[in-house]
Amino acid sequence: LNSTSFDYIILGGGTAGLVLANRLSSDPNTTVLVVEAGDFERNNPNVTATTALGLAKNTDVDWQYVSAPQIYGGNHSLIWSAGKGLGGSSLINGMTYIRPASSQIDLWPSLGLDLNWTELLTASKKSEHFQPPSADLTVLGAAYQSIAHGFTGPLDTCYSKHITRGTIHQIFNDTFKAVGIPPRHEFNDGDLRGYGVQAVTQDSKADVREDAARAYYYPVMSRPNLAVLVNTTATRIVWSQQNAPDGSVVASAAEIISPTGKTSNITAKREIILSAGAIRSPVILEYSGIGNPKILKTYSIPVKVPLPAVGENFQDQTVMAATGLHTLPRNYTGLPGFVAHVSLHDLFGAETAAFYNATAAKLRGYAKTIASQNGGASNATVQEHLLKTQLDLLYKSNTPTAEIVPVVLLNFAGAAFWPLQPFSRGSVHLNSTNATFSPAIDAKFFQFDVDGALAVASARWSRKLIFTEPFSGIMNASTISPSFDLVPANATDEVWLDWIKTSSGYAPNFHHLGTCAMLPRESGGVVDNDFKVYGTKNVRVVDLSVIPLQVAGHSTSLLYGVAEWAAEKILKS
Ligand code: FAD
Repeated sequence: LNSTSFDYIILGGGTAGLVLANRLSSDPNTTVLVVEAGDFERNNPNVTATTALGLAKNTDVDWQYVSAPQIYGGNHSLIWSAGKGLGGSSLINGMTYIRPASSQIDLWPSLGLDLNWTELLTASKKSEHFQPPSADLTVLGAAYQSIAHGFTGPLDTCYSKHITRGTIHQIFNDTFKAVGIPPRHEFNDGDLRGYGVQAVTQDSKADVREDAARAYYYPVMSRPNLAVLVNTTATRIVWSQQNAPDGSVVASAAEIISPTGKTSNITAKREIILSAGAIRSPVILEYSGIGNPKILKTYSIPVKVPLPAVGENFQDQTVMAATGLHTLPRNYTGLPGFVAHVSLHDLFGAETAAFYNATAAKLRGYAKTIASQNGGASNATVQEHLLKTQLDLLYKSNTPTAEIVPVVLLNFAGAAFWPLQPFSRGSVHLNSTNATFSPAIDAKFFQFDVDGALAVASARWSRKLIFTEPFSGIMNASTISPSFDLVPANATDEVWLDWIKTSSGYAPNFHHLGTCAMLPRESGGVVDNDFKVYGTKNVRVVDLSVIPLQVAGHSTSLLYGVAEWAAEKILKS
């Protein structure tokens, strides 16, 4: 690095950050620096592998943040995985590539965002290079609709060639049909209800994981106007003495700590863009004096912009599983790749209206609780509107309420499952005066009983699934957890919930978002429609933290589109 000043400084070389690095440096007259706390991971076999999942999780490539005890959810402290290295969480994730439901994105304009599904799909396709499946994968159900994919973008997507073979897909297919879930041959067109095969972020030719660095950085790394500092931690934004004429604060530099521990400033000639992910971007803002004044005062940080929404609105999903031993004659080494999305009506059947009415009646109370906890980020009326919008969408449409993943792996089989739309809202905040320390994370999982009810309904449904023929025919029933001793066939909601909280071993889904929400400021927003942090002249956040509400699908497919959209806006500004 032979410069100490750049037009754009991107803090965090992860999934979204590298999209920006590529697009902003496409103009040779613009200089771009990426600051990444982790290392290059191009040749890390735990990252590149496509024949196994989760190899890089819980290694040096994973921040492995520890949360506060989840006091409403069995008091467990949970490990929040997040990728550390050039490529961010795309280095360690499950590679699933499924977009949200179109109905969820089409809600955004009513919340004040200027992006709808059609525009997101266009931006997403710009990012994607879909590699159509071979005939043998098509036999397993891996079909696609051209209209749902991009074919000329930098990000390789495909169907995994390592998906479980044999007759498993037929067993799953017939079982889902038997419980009323139709087959789906495309999950990326905005309509998700159904059962089918998932696409993945992989280069099918080279047979390696397609992380953000492989897609967006390595192909352009020789650009002289693009620099990357790895093993370098961004700590805070340095502000100009002079505010802009409209009173907004002006970023002049980023403070960084080099691999040898030296602190220095790099000048930002135009902008600083935070792409450190939903756990770190809000915390960098706090160290820079943007956040809840009460929290900043505790750590003696001078307030530049009072913005209590920073770090609030943390939302993730809880993953559970019902599994046991299978009775098939061999161990399965292929990877799971089958998935289903079910609606509120699938989960609650004839009880759906009762569930909706009972939940709707509680929203005002939930909203008051959220408003009392969020440091004045938004009031109860705003929160009630957001919660009602979320509930209504589930009730009045086929928008997925839970994702169900049937699995046969080695000698285990069963189903993993997670409700997609939590109503509880947590937070992430700084935890020390030392900006390199891990933040305080509290998802407040199961704070509201609707989240417990959705988890119980998903668990009941998943048990029913694996006890339905032909799935049940391959299961060793006496080994399935939860056992009928623990959770009897006619168990009450309370018994199910107790199992979920105390012994299911539930975990976060690592789709954490919402902590720098793109919303009007009075609705709890941190960034405006241009990704600009309120009260600043030249600071943006572009990563999953800007997504205001949880969505179905998996986050990278959404984020690559959102980051492309952000890059277009920044280039035009
Ligand atoms: P990240 O990609 O996490 O990027 C943030 C970057 O900032 C990181 O590289 C980090 O090291 C860096 N950083 C943080 N703090 C600093 C600092 N102070 N200074 C410098 N750099 C810093 N999504 C899917 O679509 N499909 C899946 O199958 C899937 N499975 C997942 C499995 C796991 C284990 C995990 C962790 C996530 C999974 N996700 C999945 C979620 C998805 O990968 C993330 O939501 C997405 O990648 C987040 O992108 P981001 O740009 O917001 O943040």
